[in-house]
Amino acid sequence: PLLPSDSASPSPADTYRHRGQRRALVAALRGRGIRDERVLAALGAVPRHLFFAPAFEAHAYHDKAFPIGEGQTISQPYTVAYQTELLALGPQHRVLEVGTGSGYQCAVLLRLTPHVHSIELNATLFAATQRRLGALLPPEGPAPQLRCGDGSLGWPEAAPFDRILVTAGAPGLPPALLRQLAVGGQLVIPVGPAHEQRMVRVVREGPDAFAREDLAPARFVPLLGAGGWQ
Ligand code: SAM
Repeated sequence: PLLPSDSASPSPADTYRHRGQRRALVAALRGRGIRDERVLAALGAVPRHLFFAPAFEAHAYHDKAFPIGEGQTISQPYTVAYQTELLALGPQHRVLEVGTGSGYQCAVLLRLTPHVHSIELNATLFAATQRRLGALLPPEGPAPQLRCGDGSLGWPEAAPFDRILVTAGAPGLPPALLRQLAVGGQLVIPVGPAHEQRMVRVVREGPDAFAREDLAPARFVPLLGAGGWQ
C-alpha cells in the first residue's frame, strides 16, 4: 500500500485537509456511478496531490484532467476510476498499463494488485515519474515494473497479461496488445478518431476468439507508436 495514507496520523505531505478532499472526491465519483468499493478505496488512498507540482496542488482533487508537461495530462479521476472498474482487477492479476504519464493510475493499480507493469513513451515524463514513484511508494510494498518505450507494442518478455489498460486514445486495437493478452484476459482501451474515442473492452475468450464491447464516449491524448498514431 501507498503510505502515508494507511498510517493513523497524516504526514506533512498528506494532511487531514488532503484526506478530506479525497473523501469528497470519492463521494463525487460514487455519485457519478462508480460502484466498485475496491476501486473507490484505491482512489481514496492514493494522494493525487503528490503527482502535481506544488504550485498546482490546489487542482489535485477536482475531477478534472490536468497538464503534466510534454503536452500530456494526468487523467481525470472519474476516468481513472471508470477504466479501473472496467478492468475488474483482482490481486492475482498481472496488469500492463500503457501510458504511465504521472504514475497516478499506476499507483491506483498497485492498490489492487502487486503485479503491475507500466510503460511510457516520453523519456522526460518517464524519468520524472520513475523518481516520483520511487519516492512515494514504501520500500517494503509492491513496486511496479517501469519501462520507457513504445507501449503500443506491449511488453513481450513479460506477457501474457491478465489485464491491459491503455490510457491514451488509439486509432484501432493494437495487434501486439491482443497477442499479449492471456486467454480469459481483458483489454481496456479508448479507440477512435483523434478527438472522440469510445472506451472499448476486449475479452480474449480463446486463442483466436476476442469479444469486443464498445462503451462510453471518451477523450484522450493520442496513443503514439507503431500500434498507435504514427
Ligand atoms: N495514466 C496516466 C496518469 O495516471 O497520469 C495518464 C496518461 S496520459 C493521458 C497518456 C500517456 O500516454 C502520456 O504520458 C503519453 O506520453 C503516453 N503515451 C502515448 N503513446 C504511448 C506509447 N505508444 N507507449 C507508451 N506511452 C504512450
